[in-house]
Amino acid sequence: MKRNLPFGKPIIGAPELDAVRRTIESGILVHGPRSKEFEDAFAGWVGGGHVVSVASCTAGLHLVYFDRGIGAGDEVIVPAMTHTATAHAVELEGATPVFVDAESRTGNIDIDQIEAAITPRTRAISIVHYLGVPVAMDRINAIAKRHDLLVVEDCALAIGTRYQGVHAGLHGNVGCFSFYPVKHMTTGEGGVVLTRDGELAKRLLRKRAFGVDRHVGERAQPGIYDVTMLGFNYRMSEVEAAMGTEQVRRLDGFLSQRTANYRALSRALRELPELRLFEEGDGQSSYYCLSAILEERLAPKRQAIAASLNADGVGTSVYYPAPVPHFTYYREKYAFGPDTFPVAASIARSSIALPVGPHLTEDDMTYIAESMKQAIQRNR
Ligand SMILES: *Cc1c(COP(=O)(O)O)cnc(C)c1O
Repeated sequence: MKRNLPFGKPIIGAPELDAVRRTIESGILVHGPRSKEFEDAFAGWVGGGHVVSVASCTAGLHLVYFDRGIGAGDEVIVPAMTHTATAHAVELEGATPVFVDAESRTGNIDIDQIEAAITPRTRAISIVHYLGVPVAMDRINAIAKRHDLLVVEDCALAIGTRYQGVHAGLHGNVGCFSFYPVKHMTTGEGGVVLTRDGELAKRLLRKRAFGVDRHVGERAQPGIYDVTMLGFNYRMSEVEAAMGTEQVRRLDGFLSQRTANYRALSRALRELPELRLFEEGDGQSSYYCLSAILEERLAPKRQAIAASLNADGVGTSVYYPAPVPHFTYYREKYAFGPDTFPVAASIARSSIALPVGPHLTEDDMTYIAESMKQAIQRNR
């Protein structure tokens, strides 16, 4: 029987609905207790650090570069294989992203190529834990220390990612997370910045809200405040935060289902010689999805293979459709040729992402593997 297995589907139920209803009924929609409660819950779950809730992961990344005064004339190392937000956050401040190709083993930034990309203008290294597989952060930190650079972790796919036992986002200076609906948990739109640096967290709390010196609850006289710095409105609403707290309570369950699904699907797909699977790296993956790489001969048929899976009710995606420097905006601005970033380009061209989220079961994984087998047979 045909199944309906979307690529991503948030799991939202009575606890979230109750929390959202209670928040709306309270009449306090921003600047209330829920965002603080959510920040504490998230910090507790990852096991440390200060958490600043923000409007999105992109807002968090932008806020970090803004706070550090990274701008025109500065360069930031950015992985070529990532979401465009990782690079946009740098561009938005007028700084220049210097892209580094991926390693083919995991799809993560090729650490061996980072030092050659560093110049006297480099201010920061940003990395992404691609599909949740941990980057070797001890190596990143060693390079950063040698060159006195800020380390920014894009953790949008890394809730549950651990390296040497420590959660993603706690290795570098700062980590930014996303709660967009198909990520590991959701608040609709939303994100957090995680950092061990208490002073940075304090500044971000101000800068996410106009640079105002006292928030609503801190004012001796209502309506009276000063503005001591420039800032954005990058806050998360109380409704989103209330939903987030309930989602954090479910994270362990979400992750154990993802893990079981990923293991079942990778076991089944490993029998297909036409596919290569990424390695899991050293440490704990968050198992965002299972991205399978089609052998060279099948890569041009990726669209037909995806259509065959989709016709069976299996949702698919591509992470990512191009290396960020090959997207028109970056390609035209920085004149990148088609032969640049060959590893990222090859992953972009030949990979197909399959769902392993907690909305699915291990039995669904058997169905997905069977559907993939047939899709390959039809297109060989
Ligand atoms: C989804 C994603 C983002 C953007 O997150 P938003 O919360 O939508 O801003 C950034 N980086 C990566 C790696 C992502 O996957």
